[in-house]
Amino acid sequence: MIQSGQALSTAGYRVQPLVVPQVSCRRAALNTKRAISFVSPVHGEEHVGVPTREVVCQVCGRHSRIPIAALSAHCVHCRSHFETADYVLRSGTRHRALRTLGRVTIPEDAELSHLDIMCSDLVISGKISGRFRATQKLELCGRANVSGELSAVFLSVPFGARVTVDPSVMVQDAELHGEMRGRLIAKGQVRVYAGGKLLGDCRARKLLLDPGAMHEGMRLL
Ligand SMILES: [Zn+2]
Repeated sequence: MIQSGQALSTAGYRVQPLVVPQVSCRRAALNTKRAISFVSPVHGEEHVGVPTREVVCQVCGRHSRIPIAALSAHCVHCRSHFETADYVLRSGTRHRALRTLGRVTIPEDAELSHLDIMCSDLVISGKISGRFRATQKLELCGRANVSGELSAVFLSVPFGARVTVDPSVMVQDAELHGEMRGRLIAKGQVRVYAGGKLLGDCRARKLLLDPGAMHEGMRLL
């Protein structure tokens, strides 16, 4: 852990803890009121092994890496500030609008409406409505049912899932091992694997149907 007031150079980043009066993070209550700012690697600096992960800035859309333990971060490109906490949203949660570079999970038994979520990774198994944007991966699992605006860079529907999107989901690329009902709009490639089903219209630069895969719906141009 980084001690307050101590500056470290790690994994290509100069980590400079600073005390901020209010960090909009649920862990702030645990006396961890620190933001960590990441600047570009200094030329010739030795890289030491601090575990990091890739994040995509929700303002400028560019990629950078932050230490896994960071509570919040500044984008190295546009200096926007983000929290990085992961959330699990259950029925009755007080979190309706969320902006985080972390992962948001909506479990199977959750039923939530009027959500407004922007995050890196989004895993949905429950029944929800609202506006959802994953700047990296969206996973629709179990009997997920999503109505409203839904978009992501990459969509995955795992084997055994039977999910519904109403009216549509917009992505760059998608992989379907299970069944998805609803319209799928992809800028890149959609691949439906053996046993997978796409029940709805599809617009994609490339639609690949493996032997044993099914598509019922229009191929939109
Ligand atoms: Zn940015």
